[in-house]
Parts: sequence; C-alpha cells; structure tokens
Amino acid sequence: MTTEQIVDKALGAYLGFACGDALGATVEFMSPKQIQKRYGVHRDIIGGGWLALEAGQVTDDTQMSLALGQAIIDHQGWNLQAVADNFVAWLQSDPPDVGTTCRRGITRYRDSGELFGLPRDDDAGNGACMRNLPVVLSTLNRPDCFKLWSLQQSHITHNHPLSDAATLTLGRIVNRLINGRDITACKQEAERLIGEYGEFAYAPYPGKASAYIVDTVQTVLHYFFNTDNFESCLIATVNQGGDADTTGALAGMLAGAKYGAGQIPERWLTRLDQHVVAQIRQQTLELIRNF
Ligand code: MN
Ligand code: MN
Repeated sequence: MTTEQIVDKALGAYLGFACGDALGATVEFMSPKQIQKRYGVHRDIIGGGWLALEAGQVTDDTQMSLALGQAIIDHQGWNLQAVADNFVAWLQSDPPDVGTTCRRGITRYRDSGELFGLPRDDDAGNGACMRNLPVVLSTLNRPDCFKLWSLQQSHITHNHPLSDAATLTLGRIVNRLINGRDITACKQEAERLIGEYGEFAYAPYPGKASAYIVDTVQTVLHYFFNTDNFESCLIATVNQGGDADTTGALAGMLAGAKYGAGQIPERWLTRLDQHVVAQIRQQTLELIRNF
C-alpha cells in the first residue's frame, strides 16, 4: 500500500461515515415501509427527519467522533481525560441529538470525574461503537493501543461486552481494509465475533436496524458484504430505517475504507456541511501519522 492509497481509504472511511450520518438522519426511526411510501428510495442528502436538520448537517455520530479525534490530535496520543472533557464540551454545545446512554455517562464524568461506568445491562446500545473511527485511524499499526484506547473511550459511556466486541470487530475490519487486505480478511473478523457471540449472526439477515448494538452490526455487515459499491451500500443500509444515521455512518465507514474517498458520490460530498468536511480532512491526515 502506498501512502496515497492509505490516505484515500482512511479519508474514505471518515468522509463516508459523515455521509452516512447525514443521509440516514432523514429517515432515522422510520420503518422501511414508511420510507418507501414517503421517498420511494431515499438516496439524497436532504436534511429534515425527526431532528429537522439542514441538508448536509451531521448528528452526534460524527460530532462525537470529531471530539474524540481532536483529543488524540491535541494531546499527540492518548489522554482519556481529554477525550471525556471533549465529550463534556460537546454535550454543552447544545447538539441536535444526544443518546440516552451517552448523556448519562458524560454527565457522570462531569459530576464525579469517574472515567468509566460500571457494567450495565442496558449499555448495549451502539453509541460507543459509532464514534471509534479516530482510534482506528491513529492506531493503524498498533493493535495493542487500538484495543486499550477503544475500550477506554467506550467505557466512558457504554460498559457492556456486546458493545466492546462490536467496537473492536468493526475497528479491526476498517484496519484490514485501510491496510489493503481483501474481503476474506474482513469476513474472518466477522466470523470471529459471531463465534464469540452468536447473536451477531447476520445471515439470514433478521431485518432489524435498531440502536441495539446487535441489530446495528447485523445491518451494517449484511449490507456491506452484499453490495459492490459505496453508493449502493449506503442507500441499501439507510433505507432499512431504524437507527439509520448510525447504521448509515458505520456502513459508510466500512464502504469508504473499502472503495476509497474517490468513490464517494460527488453530490453527497458537496452537500455535506463543508466545515465538517474540512475538519475530517485535517483530522484524517493528522491521525494516520501515528503518534
Ligand atoms: Mn445520530
Ligand atoms: Mn442514530
């Protein structure tokens, strides 16, 4: 892999993630039938949705990722307290959306200084997994750091074995893709996850796309492994509805890492909030330098 190829795939993952967030937010919490009735096939970044977004606006998925990425860059490596502080600053910035579990964890840290919550049965949402890409990008050649940093940032808000396993698996798949490995290597990671936690089995696809991490991962893996280009992967994923901004973001992350930034449709990139695009471009270059 040349540096140029690595940059294209890393940028593809991060920009693809933001595209999926902005595209999916329009149909978040709708059923596939409701989406079909209203849009036919939802395929353009038009804003709206239950959050009444501007076209191109991103939500907590991308904003929390940027907060995490900036903490790594500002501290030239890992500083968990800086990550948590950035989450607090983000929560206080009046974001369009905040997940319940994220709010609870960030508030706990703000009020007590505790950097992680105790394990809870209701922490199996997708909120920790959804924001881990900056850790993946900053640890491309450091698997030990990848695991430690991923779990630490996750546990600020989510402390659950299914969330942990999913976060590590999707991160490893992105790592393999950016490092130029083929789809077989990705499927091995997915199989390893299913071997450990059978509930993640995604074939036959159960068709649920909620914020429960198992539903999210099944949806993302199903559409990632069953489409053959960036655009169709994202469109298929978000038209499944449910937590569509988050499944869209994670599918966009995988598809972007596979196909590269050059395969992201121009009409999506130009519609995306350009301040976010600039931040993503800058963070990607700084994160993959490997502190
Ligand atoms: Mn969101
Ligand atoms: Mn969501």
